Amino acid sequence: MRTADRLKAIGPYLFADLDLRRQQALARGVDIIDLGVGDPDQPPPQHVVRRLCREAHEPGYHRYPPYEGLKPLRQALAGWYAERFHVDLDPDSEVLVLIGSKEGLSHLCWAFVDPGDVSLVPDPAYPVYGVQTRLCGGEPYPLPLRAERDFLPDLGAVPDAVCRSATLLFLNYPNNPTSAVADLAFFEEAVAFCRRHGLLLCHDAAYIEMTYDGYVAPSVLQVPGAREVAVEFYSLSKPFNMTGWRLAFAVGNRDALGALRRVKTNTDSGQFLAVQAAGEEALRVRPREFISRMNAIYQKRRDVMLEGLEALGWRLPTPRGTFYLWVPVPRKYNSVSFAGMLLERAGVLVSPGLAFGREGEGYVRLSLTVDEDRLVEALGRIRAHARYP
Ligand SMILES: *Cc1c(COP(=O)(O)O)cnc(C)c1O
Repeated sequence: MRTADRLKAIGPYLFADLDLRRQQALARGVDIIDLGVGDPDQPPPQHVVRRLCREAHEPGYHRYPPYEGLKPLRQALAGWYAERFHVDLDPDSEVLVLIGSKEGLSHLCWAFVDPGDVSLVPDPAYPVYGVQTRLCGGEPYPLPLRAERDFLPDLGAVPDAVCRSATLLFLNYPNNPTSAVADLAFFEEAVAFCRRHGLLLCHDAAYIEMTYDGYVAPSVLQVPGAREVAVEFYSLSKPFNMTGWRLAFAVGNRDALGALRRVKTNTDSGQFLAVQAAGEEALRVRPREFISRMNAIYQKRRDVMLEGLEALGWRLPTPRGTFYLWVPVPRKYNSVSFAGMLLERAGVLVSPGLAFGREGEGYVRLSLTVDEDRLVEALGRIRAHARYP
């Protein structure tokens, strides 16, 4: 048996490796506080779960779904974009239903990256952008995200020759893993950059609803003319605690969506219609209420963690978005040895920054996806056993 050469271009999925380490510690009987993976711990809206149960009895919903997704679901998403961002989308040509945004982001690469092409990919970043670029035979060109630039890429520093071989620019704000946010002025600059160089701007808006202290995150499509060069990925996973349901959208430029749809119709057959109908319920019935309730929970956890870390001598900026803290590691460690030390001595699992790219070295990412008591417990264990800093 011989595997395809393209597999040599990628390693095992980052979180698969973290999961293995967690399993090994669990097998040793360690009570692990898992701040490693960004997966909400709270349940989805109750009425959405009830709707799924009802729709599962719908006889017509057990057949193959339409390729572009359930029309009422696309209309609900368009309605939400109008209310939330004042962006008008045509539900038929500017909204495509995905089996999660990871699926859509991956297939977008297959639609836009030929062997030898370049994707402009933030570093650190959610690994899928770079990995899928490589699987397509392309080369990710890293855009460093550094504290001194508020974790925004310096687009002006990308050489012209690189821009000429590039087809895609990936952005993601509020940002995983740095928890940085971007304002509309930055998106304007990015849209102008993509227009100038003939790139498709691909904005991963997975955390666009998860913001704090009154901050509201913009959609890239709020930039005038953005839909001529941009697509945005909106996911129900994080804001509605529905990561396992696999439901998201690509919205924006219709030619790009057409290309993505072409890959998808030849690859998958869409999401279960009962799940799509329940997704319509999530977006149409009091989404704001649910989102604010979740954000209040994360904001409280964020504050508990920031205060606790400060008491240990760790002073961090207060993130306005995502449920992550991006924490510099003490000098005598690197990100992997520090994460390893926290796991071995304190039973606290965090993600080493290196897993998100070279520029992630020197940081670990903490997820606020356990309750306050567990965060307090984690802080206590770090103080008692890990002797930080
Ligand atoms: C969690 C996450 C996703 C995945 O979203 P799905 O819709 O569940 O596939 C995409 N992008 C980023 C940055 C994420 O953190």
